[in-house]
Amino acid sequence: MKLVYIARNPTEAHLVKGLLEAEEIPAMVRGEHLFGTRGETPLTGETCPSVWILDDSQFEKARSLATAYARGEGKGIRGAVWRCRRCGEAIEPQFTQCWQCGTPRPHTWRDR
Ligand SMILES: [Zn+2]
Repeated sequence: MKLVYIARNPTEAHLVKGLLEAEEIPAMVRGEHLFGTRGETPLTGETCPSVWILDDSQFEKARSLATAYARGEGKGIRGAVWRCRRCGEAIEPQFTQCWQCGTPRPHTWRDR
């Protein structure tokens, strides 16, 4: 078993797990039961939900999928809904500009 991804919350961990399983890489989520203790314990690989693969030989592929997800390049998953700085419209993550007024997505959106 190998660790491929440390998630910020259980939802994200299961999302990455689903992403891997869609590519026929058996995966599991560990540590999600520790999530409730957040705030009292530091955020580390020990206290965050993590995604593990069962077959070590698939590590390279799994790791690149997880990395792509982290960069927001996963299939159909491109990060959070963003808000137009001009008109305040909430925009779906797959759009790079506001459908309402055409303002491009702010460059800082990834830094949030
Ligand atoms: Zn707009």
